[in-house]
Amino acid sequence: METVKKLIREVPDFPKKGILFYDITTLLKDAQGFRRVIDGLTEIFRDQEIDLVCGIEARGFIFAPTVAFALGAGFVPVRKPHKLPAETESVTYDLEYGTDSLEIHKDAITPGQRVLLLDDVLATGGTAAAVARLIRKLQGELVGAAFVIELDFLGGRKKLDGIEITSLVHY
Ligand code: AMP
Repeated sequence: METVKKLIREVPDFPKKGILFYDITTLLKDAQGFRRVIDGLTEIFRDQEIDLVCGIEARGFIFAPTVAFALGAGFVPVRKPHKLPAETESVTYDLEYGTDSLEIHKDAITPGQRVLLLDDVLATGGTAAAVARLIRKLQGELVGAAFVIELDFLGGRKKLDGIEITSLVHY
């Protein structure tokens, strides 16, 4: 995964001063790098009988459906409020300043289905923990949470206690 890491661009002071942003667009446009990421994640979960891969708007929508397709699983979008047209379940979680919400369609998961949560970056873990709550509200069986990048120094995995976490690249 060292070659994958080299393809991730580090942009200082984005979206605000003091944040080092890990930009995956430089990885995505590299055919071999993109394939390595999708193959890497698919390999790990191939034998886990995943029914659904749940991806978070917006960058999660790049990786989650691709891995779902490779696994022969379905894809479920988790979206920002008021984007999903049918009945939704929602969750509110804390940000550094204020709160944010995410929604999922109530009928997106049939109770007992085996669900993989997949996002681009695990930072503080707030987003993934909120999505884990949504999956469990719908009685999905949360098989694990997978990320392309994990920012170890932020300790996000503490918020995902009890969930099997897989990350391809660590900082
Ligand atoms: P968090 O809830 O703090 O774990 O943040 C997770 C979301 O924020 C991920 O879906 C990322 O897309 C985004 N994110 C947070 N920090 C960064 C960063 N330093 N570089 C790129 N994306 C980030």
